[in-house]
Amino acid sequence: MSNTGHIRQYGYAGKVLRINLSEGRVAVEEINLEILRDFMGGVGYAAKLLYDEIPVGIDPLGSENKVVFATGPLTGTIAPGSGSIEICFKSPLTGIWCESRAGGEWGGALRRAGYDFLVVEGKAKERKYVMVDDDKVEIRPAERLKGKTTSQKEKIIKKEELKDEKFETVAIGPAGENLVRFATIMAGERAFGRGGGGAVMGSKNLLAVAVKGSGKIPVANPGEFSLACKQTREKVVADAGAEDWTIHGTTKSLAGCDAQGDIPTKNWRSNSWGKGEALYDHFRRKNLVKAEACYRGCVLRCKRIVKVDSGRWETPQHEGGEYETMAVFTFFVLNEDVDAAVHAGYLCNEYGLDSISTGAVIAFAMDCYDNGIIGREEAGGLDLTWGNAETVIELVKRISSRDGLGRVLGEGVRRASQQIGKGSDMLAIHVKGLEGPAHDARSGKSQAIAYGLSNRGMCHIHPLETGDYDSFKNNFGLIPYGIPDPQTVDRFAEEGKGEIVKKLQDFGVVPDILGFCKFYVYVSLGLDELAGMLSALTGWDVDGWELLRVGERVYDLQRMFNTREGIRKTDDMLPERCLKLPEFGDYASVKECEIKNLSRMLEECYQARGWSKETGVPLKAET
Ligand code: SF4
Repeated sequence: MSNTGHIRQYGYAGKVLRINLSEGRVAVEEINLEILRDFMGGVGYAAKLLYDEIPVGIDPLGSENKVVFATGPLTGTIAPGSGSIEICFKSPLTGIWCESRAGGEWGGALRRAGYDFLVVEGKAKERKYVMVDDDKVEIRPAERLKGKTTSQKEKIIKKEELKDEKFETVAIGPAGENLVRFATIMAGERAFGRGGGGAVMGSKNLLAVAVKGSGKIPVANPGEFSLACKQTREKVVADAGAEDWTIHGTTKSLAGCDAQGDIPTKNWRSNSWGKGEALYDHFRRKNLVKAEACYRGCVLRCKRIVKVDSGRWETPQHEGGEYETMAVFTFFVLNEDVDAAVHAGYLCNEYGLDSISTGAVIAFAMDCYDNGIIGREEAGGLDLTWGNAETVIELVKRISSRDGLGRVLGEGVRRASQQIGKGSDMLAIHVKGLEGPAHDARSGKSQAIAYGLSNRGMCHIHPLETGDYDSFKNNFGLIPYGIPDPQTVDRFAEEGKGEIVKKLQDFGVVPDILGFCKFYVYVSLGLDELAGMLSALTGWDVDGWELLRVGERVYDLQRMFNTREGIRKTDDMLPERCLKLPEFGDYASVKECEIKNLSRMLEECYQARGWSKETGVPLKAET
């Protein structure tokens, strides 16, 4: 690291900071250069670390679990889109591998302080927060932060505890302290969203980590790196879709995805509603304040500053209104009150709740109510009729505080359905315990394989939204790397998708390894740009093919983490409802929507990966 004058590897700070909360011990370790070359960083290096260090079968909320804050070599550099960091852990929601990404300045600050990775292990006896100021690292008392919202914690730490606004913080909210299984960790107002990292932090009695650093990442070839970053920036800005990201962010997809049959509606009974255009129109006119960047080097600026000016759901300006959040609090629960959806998203940020899982468990509860499985009494007096905005807001609060039905729902749909019984498992939409997000595989069949095989469960973006290839014809720059032009591929076809998904997913892991924002792959950022920047930064001679191989290696290792925990082919199947013809909406009579043979599609992908066709277990061990 250049602030100590000791360079172990260009492109890296060179150190792992390890904090053991049981022993109150802080250790600084040298980064392992052999692992680094094979796994590079981010979710790759963290996968190797957790595979080697976490015993099989441990309780994710016990002291043996570890949280790895994992930067990539590009995190916090001048590369556009490099404000990314991942956290990796065994999920209390799914019991398997989990990774969650957030943008912002925190990852860059950790690297400037001299560390590529922060490993948190053990469990503190009392509430603590951690302060990292270059090589000064302290585990500090945090009783006064108890029960505070995420923004309150950040404010207290910066203004009153450390009296220094230059610190970047990550913090959990009341939901994480209450061990809600899908609690987030918030980096400012950016969420490490999925899989319950906030609950793991809460289980360790760790409420926040504040970081400040003054070093620089050493660059092997500064002139080449600057040029490679400049060329990437210019290519991204010149993309026909780039301006749209700034003007509309992710939220405009409410209209486009609705038209394409890509938004699960009424707890996945349909994949379209026909109201996306009107909902987005309200959002744009009434709620959107401005576009910003989540970290200072971003040229796309998809971050939305939103508010509700007045009325029942009056909400202060905050960062929110993302597509997924808005979709789950409207389409999933048939709610047409956009202001209420914005407010629900705001509460999720403040309490530290994953908005996707929160919307999904509420949709599940409404479906149970609709089917007579739970009544008003079990619902704590709430009217769970579809579209009831007041109930949606109240349930967000009760889930965070684990009150009544909120306690059951805070376990996630899989466990909630096991507790409720009465056939409610048929209404619980998840894969491996992770609730499904706001994209529907009946719009593009490759997404069904991706949902089945995402290593963190039913996720669209880790490693890649493959439905975008099928349904929206995005080739992700991979035609020279052997995938067919999506324009020639029928989105509803099933045969041949397994091989395509394998390559798309290997590619999708790469930004999560390198510390790059995934949204850039939608606007011309491809393997060649990533390889060029990485080579100049590190001095390695890396090309796109090598990045694909590293992506595959990391993906397989995560799968091995999961197979070690008992995951097999049956766990890769989707809930029946997600495969069937929609009950209503524009696609209710489009027979091609139906997913007829997911098992065969999965087998095709297993074969492409060199996994057992029968079980889905990786046969080759590159680890
Ligand atoms: S595109 Fe959006 S999420 Fe990605 S770095 Fe920019 S503002 Fe952050």
